[in-house]
Amino acid sequence: GGVSNLSFSFRGNNPVREAMHSVFLYHAIKAGMDMGIVNPGMLEVYDEIEPKLKELCEDVVLNKNENSTEVLLEFAQTVSDTKKTKEKDTAWRNEPVEKRLSHALVKGITEFIDEDVEEARTKYPRPLEVIEGPLMDGMNIVGELFGSGKMFLPQVVKSARVMKKAVAILQPYIEAEKADGSTTNGKILMATVKGDVHDIGKNIVSVVLGCNNYEIVDMGVMVPCEKILKTAIEENVDIIGLSGLITPSLDEMVNIAQEMQREKMNIPLLIGGATTSRIHTAVKVDPHYQGSVIHVADASKSVPVAQMLLSNHEKIHNEVKEQYSQMRENYSAKADYKTVDIESARGNRFPIDWDKAQIKKPNFIGVKEINNIQITDLIPYIDWTPFFSAWRLRGVYPQILESEKYGAEAQKLFDDAKKHLQEMSEQCPSTCRAKVGIFPANSAGDDIEVYSFETTKDNPLTTLNMLRSQRKMEKESSYNRSLADYIAPKKSKINDYIGAFVVTSGLNIDTLVHKYEHEQDDYAAIMIKTLADRLAEAFAEYLHKELRTNIWGYAANEDLSNQELISEKYHGIRPAPGYSACPDHSEKEKLFALLEAQNIGVQLTESCAMMPASSVSGWYFAHPNAKYFNIGKIEQDQVIDYAKRKNITVEQAEKWLRSILNYS
Ligand code: SAH
Repeated sequence: GGVSNLSFSFRGNNPVREAMHSVFLYHAIKAGMDMGIVNPGMLEVYDEIEPKLKELCEDVVLNKNENSTEVLLEFAQTVSDTKKTKEKDTAWRNEPVEKRLSHALVKGITEFIDEDVEEARTKYPRPLEVIEGPLMDGMNIVGELFGSGKMFLPQVVKSARVMKKAVAILQPYIEAEKADGSTTNGKILMATVKGDVHDIGKNIVSVVLGCNNYEIVDMGVMVPCEKILKTAIEENVDIIGLSGLITPSLDEMVNIAQEMQREKMNIPLLIGGATTSRIHTAVKVDPHYQGSVIHVADASKSVPVAQMLLSNHEKIHNEVKEQYSQMRENYSAKADYKTVDIESARGNRFPIDWDKAQIKKPNFIGVKEINNIQITDLIPYIDWTPFFSAWRLRGVYPQILESEKYGAEAQKLFDDAKKHLQEMSEQCPSTCRAKVGIFPANSAGDDIEVYSFETTKDNPLTTLNMLRSQRKMEKESSYNRSLADYIAPKKSKINDYIGAFVVTSGLNIDTLVHKYEHEQDDYAAIMIKTLADRLAEAFAEYLHKELRTNIWGYAANEDLSNQELISEKYHGIRPAPGYSACPDHSEKEKLFALLEAQNIGVQLTESCAMMPASSVSGWYFAHPNAKYFNIGKIEQDQVIDYAKRKNITVEQAEKWLRSILNYS
């Protein structure tokens, strides 16, 4: 807390802020913190911190004397941001062709690649030798710089683009020569599992592995298990990499591990994606497969893991098996999540005095489509911080543009983003569509009944089944919340309302994405996908504001800046099924049915992922005390009750809720 407070005071003074972080991390590691969560790039900086500044930071972190904070604050005033001046350097054009190729790769410059590759091709006896010689040498430098935290993801993806272009130029000559394909480090199958459509992470890992001379067999998204195993055998791959983003994908990965065991396969299995984790891989996936199973936290980790698997398989296999089995033991020994039974939890619901609540009757009831929104309308609502994070540049926008470490790359990435947004708005027709609905509603226990009219409540349109936190609360003022608590109970006879929305900004972007993929430009292809994701969130932000000020109108006089919107300074929430307050993805089926979302071209996969991937959906709760919360882990008593309410079997309920069960 102390460090983040301090780092907050140094906003805008990046050298001091970053020095503080580095010093903190350095000592945290020295004190025995888990190395796994530390960005090795940070530690480099430690050595480079100006000695005086380092000393003062250390005084603060190690609490060396009473007024160390004040001394550092004072010193900070004398340290100013030194912005590097950019000058266009053309001296490298005079170097020999090998140096030029390597420079182009490391700097990601495609401008001269045609002429340089052509020159190398005539210089070397065989075209293949250009790839295996100067191009691979250049990519090895890229790999090393990335591995040691001296180069960042956007740069690597741009380097890969240079490499792909160079190889594409040479390919016809190699084929004409009928030479065997170049020797690769190994062949890796990559797939996003069945039911999941998210592929940004998978594509990034593929690019990073590809530019480290691994041959990638990319099977795309929603790939069924049988197809993965069949292809793995046919193509004789060395490694299978699975990716997924939503929680149901975790189960599918377990299923694939089981099938691989049944087939007595021995191909190493890599697990990656936002909801995956080392602990999940160790506890849930690894025990099902005797072959190697390794969680890969980040694209940058994929290369060393692949390298070790292919060069020293037995060693890493035994080490990781041992590590994961240890993790399982510690995990089962812990069981530290304390719960109460569901009835007690219900007794500690979030209290709202409904007699005093001022419920605004919506200006509009029913469902409507929003189809007059253009990409350019949404740009001001974009929250850029997650955009940089998708490209692994960690920091808050706009300060990140000034960051000592990331600033230069962040600025380039941002400039490219703006360019591609412009291009998308010119070339992708009707990308943004939405549906929004507002309905009369009342809660009944942990359910929310949704009606067509205020007057007839006997026959709900649908009933939403909400979950409730069962965490044992330590404080009096902590409640076992359920989203149902935010809607007036039916027995109160008060008319209340709930909203629902689906927005997408992923329609008709595929042509542009494919164009870039065809041009070997993964950088632009991934860029467009990350931007489409941002636009979907921006659309959700925009529509929520429309809802509050206009469609529902419960905050007609709201006047918040875009920054205040991003910081959620408004009344009401828009929880998304599948996320912490309502973790069951399958409730999206009710949301989609209510809104007839298929009419705007958004669909659900069997795991209830939204297609196109750049879509957002959720419920609207208007009560001023409605806050996001985390359901946490739940017990079987609630699951049995939930299954009954939802009219499904307990097994089905457990499948959808697997990631939050507090029992096995
Ligand atoms: N401005 C950010 C939005 C962050 S995510 C961006 O552009 O990425 C915020 C969204 O996640 C919320 O709008 C809500 O839909 C969902 N969300 C956040 N916390 C949640 C919770 N506890 N339960 C359910 N949904 C949640």
